[in-house]
Amino acid sequence: MYPFSFTKAAGTREALEAGRRGGRYIAGGTTLVDLMRETVERPRTLVDISALPMREVTDTARGGLRIGALVRMAEAAAHPKVRTLYPVISQALELSASAQLRNMATIGGNIMQRTRCAYFRDVTAACNKREPGSGCAALQGYNRTHAILGTSDHCVATHPSDVAVAFAALEASVHLLGPDGERSVPFADFLLQPGDTPNREQALRPGELITAVEIPPHPGPLKSGYMKVRDRQSYEFALTSAAVALHVRGGVIRQAKIAVGGVGTVPWRLPAVERRLTGRRPSDALWAEAAEGAAEGARPLTHNRFKVELLKRTVERQLRIVGGTK
Ligand code: SF4
Repeated sequence: MYPFSFTKAAGTREALEAGRRGGRYIAGGTTLVDLMRETVERPRTLVDISALPMREVTDTARGGLRIGALVRMAEAAAHPKVRTLYPVISQALELSASAQLRNMATIGGNIMQRTRCAYFRDVTAACNKREPGSGCAALQGYNRTHAILGTSDHCVATHPSDVAVAFAALEASVHLLGPDGERSVPFADFLLQPGDTPNREQALRPGELITAVEIPPHPGPLKSGYMKVRDRQSYEFALTSAAVALHVRGGVIRQAKIAVGGVGTVPWRLPAVERRLTGRRPSDALWAEAAEGAAEGARPLTHNRFKVELLKRTVERQLRIVGGTK
C-alpha cells in the first residue's frame, strides 16, 4: 500500500465535487482495495459514496425496473421483482463471487470491476491496460482464460462480470450523474472494447457517477436464465457463460436476447443467433442450429481454442433450459 486520503461523501453534491477534483469513488471496495494492495491502482483520494441515496430497486414509469447503483449484489439477487421478472439477473448474481462478497459488493461496482487477467495484476508484467504502451504479456503468455471475441493486438482480457452479461442481454441502460448533469448510456455502449486504448474501459466522463442500471420494459413475459461454465463450481470466473431471454407467444419465439460472457473483452451479444431463433418454433434442432453461430468472428489464442466449442455448447444448453422444447 502507499499513502492516500479518504473522505466520506455525505451527499451527492459533495461526492461530485470530490470527483471533480480527481477523487476516486469507492462503495463496497471489493475490487478496488485488492488492486490498491497490489499497487495496480494508486488513487490519491478515495471518496466513499456508500451513504448516497442509490440503494433502491424501483419500477420505472415506462414499466421497466431501475436498480440503484449502491444496491448490494445479494440484495438485487433476492429482490422479489428481480427474481420474478428477470431470473437471468438473479442467477448471474448468485453465480458470482462468494456470499461474503455478494453481501458487500454493489451493482455499480460490479459492472466497473476490472479484468482478472493475471498479467494485469502483476505489476512486473507488460500490460497495456495497466500501463499504456508497455505491451501485452498475455498474447505470447498463458492465455487459457482470455477472450476470443472483441480482442485487439493490444489487449485480449475478458470482462469478468456475470451480471453485466445479463444486463447486456436485457438491453439495460446505465444512468450517470456528473458535473454536466444526468445522462443515460445504453449498456452496449458503456463497456468499451480494448481497441488501441485498453486502459479506457467505460464510457464515463471525468467525475461521473453511476446512479442506477435500468432494465427496459419488454413486449411480453420473458423466460430467462443464466448459465456459467467454470473450472470449479464456486468462487470462480466464467470460462463461458450465456444469458438467454426469450419471449414466446403462440408457440413461436417472438423475441430472443442472448449475450455471452467469459469469451469477450466486453459482454458479447449474439445478434446472428437471435435472428436465427426469431419467428421459429422451439425445438432441440433449432437450439443446435442457432448455437452453431455463437462463436462467429472468434479469434482464439494459443491456449483457449477450446472456448469456441464450449461457447456453442453453453449457448445450446442454455437455450434448451430456458426455451424447453415442444
Ligand atoms: Fe494487460 Fe490486457 Fe494484455 Fe492482460 S490481456 S496483459 S490486461 S493488455
